[in-house]
Amino acid sequence: MRCCSFNSILAFLLSGVFLVSTGLFDKGAVAADPLHLTFPLECTMGGDCFVQNYVDHDPSAGYRDFHCGALTYDGHDGTDFRIPSIKIQKQGVIVLAAADGKVKAVRDGMPDALLTSATKADVAGEECGNGVVIDHRDGWQTQYCHMAQGSITVKPGNRILHGTPIGRVGLSGATEFPHLHLTVRHNGEIVDPFAPNYIQGSCSEQRAPTLFDDKDITFDYRDRIVLNFGFVDGPVTGDDIELGELKSRLPDHGSDAIVAYVRVIGLKKDDVQTFAIIGPDGEPIIKREFEPLAAPKAQNFIYIGLKKPKEGWKLGIYSAIYSISDGALPKANKWFFLQF
Ligand SMILES: [Zn+2]
Repeated sequence: MRCCSFNSILAFLLSGVFLVSTGLFDKGAVAADPLHLTFPLECTMGGDCFVQNYVDHDPSAGYRDFHCGALTYDGHDGTDFRIPSIKIQKQGVIVLAAADGKVKAVRDGMPDALLTSATKADVAGEECGNGVVIDHRDGWQTQYCHMAQGSITVKPGNRILHGTPIGRVGLSGATEFPHLHLTVRHNGEIVDPFAPNYIQGSCSEQRAPTLFDDKDITFDYRDRIVLNFGFVDGPVTGDDIELGELKSRLPDHGSDAIVAYVRVIGLKKDDVQTFAIIGPDGEPIIKREFEPLAAPKAQNFIYIGLKKPKEGWKLGIYSAIYSISDGALPKANKWFFLQF
């Protein structure tokens, strides 16, 4: 789930006409007069966009988000706001300036292509991809990465207000899923916008004060998010889900198979997933309980399905239920339906 290393961001900064200090990555308490941010995307937090990765607060080779969860990876210096699929990315999700300021640096022109082992070298030193750096008051700075090729609408020197469109979410640089990476700095030091007053070694609250001041948006820490779900008429891959075109493969009465799938982000160690398809008579026609997870999973995709019985499919409503428990208590579930 890697998107962009700190070094790559530094390299990006240095590719502009300015210098930044080194020795960053102290994410201690910030000044008494913090920068207030507005949400940097035209999507709904918790609806059609989600945090995939927070800032890493573990100074060792391990990783830990501000809530002592695993929604981060080693060295991650920003927040990854994820959108559900490439289909939605292609439809265009606008990136917005998070605060008033002056554009410091811009890069555009890199292609939109998901990172593979074969393309890693192509983006070396430019892992941020197409991006924008904005200087704000009192030494605050925001940086936006992985934007769509040709989408950036601001230039260095432009003075802009918060909420100003600056481009669109893309797949440029080192990214394995469609998202906006947002880095916040104060006097060159990384600040976690979800826990600006984080105290090293602590576990901040689920509702820690954030830098975001949108009252209508929930910034609560969330894990175990069901990102994609549905029925298809046969085997399905993670790439199929990422492309977001599966609605054209809904099963019908003539289909050879009924398959239900989910893709979930932010699963925790020991989570137990169960998944079942319920037939028109209300009984499970297939059910599976998965082994407890040996380690947290940033992303997980599973499916269950069955072939058409000799007598054909019964007409009626099929439903699928996916649930997660921590071995004792239910933590999340999702129902979805199919009718023919
Ligand atoms: Zn990132």
